[in-house]
Amino acid sequence: MILCRTVSELREALGGIPREERGFVPTMGALHRGHLSLVEAALARGDQAVVSIFVNPLQFGPNEDLDRYPRTEKEDLALLREAGVALVFLPSVEEMFPQGARSFVEVEGLSEELEGALRPGHFRGVATVCARLFHLFEPARGYFGWKDMQQVCLLKKMVSDLAFPLEIVPCPVVREEDGLALSSRNRFLDAEQRVAAVSLSQGLRRACFAFAQGERRRAVLETLVRDALSPSLRCQYVAVRRSEDFSDPGERVDGGRILAAALLGGVHLIDNMPLEEAPGAGIDAS
Ligand code: AMP
Repeated sequence: MILCRTVSELREALGGIPREERGFVPTMGALHRGHLSLVEAALARGDQAVVSIFVNPLQFGPNEDLDRYPRTEKEDLALLREAGVALVFLPSVEEMFPQGARSFVEVEGLSEELEGALRPGHFRGVATVCARLFHLFEPARGYFGWKDMQQVCLLKKMVSDLAFPLEIVPCPVVREEDGLALSSRNRFLDAEQRVAAVSLSQGLRRACFAFAQGERRRAVLETLVRDALSPSLRCQYVAVRRSEDFSDPGERVDGGRILAAALLGGVHLIDNMPLEEAPGAGIDAS
């Protein structure tokens, strides 16, 4: 596995990996099975997996957890090596934005609602760093988790609007055995909070079962999620959006995904599940 810390090292190393074979997995590190599933998806598709680890300051608000975001470089590299990754790019902030950043990518509309409304500037930071990384890596495909549904839809729109020559490949949400979606931030939950956290996925699953049984009223599905949340979770939003373009289906739901966010002792939890007619609801098929 090649380790690059500078853009020039990255460019040189990429010379040995044909563009058509580059399957890019951007991450912020503190890696878990969710991240590794993206690497596996790239390898299963026949790509060489190329990974970045960069805690991107542009996507954190002034009162967010940039400083305490977990950094576990040694463990991350061991996991990536074992997973069969070809190359890892681990730049410093100065290397990524040597003169600071004055050019930004804004995906209007998609940047401002739900997660974007809670975290002003977040998606501008995500789109900007991804645009830069896509230029640096020139991958054929980029692998992203459905876990961050709004991010997937936003990046698909950016790639299409700005004609980036890559395909965005969304991958299923990886969960703990009890249903909690894996997240680098789960490590901040204490034992009691960890137990309460599972109510988020339980609520989403309830809504998915109701949909599978024929419930199409959006308000009813959303209420099922809200009502399932443990009292210690403060609901931030529950919504249904279409998977292709994050559009709002209106009062009657015809599929897509149901998503929710909640605050638990200062930890921001997000999750979503596909609304499908077949039972076994809530499990990502693709
Ligand atoms: P992050 O390091 O949080 O920026 O995430 C890097 C990538 O991993 C993003 O595409 C995430 O959507 C994805 N990811 C994070 N958690 C999960 C999960 N539990 N299942 C699948 N993908 C995930």
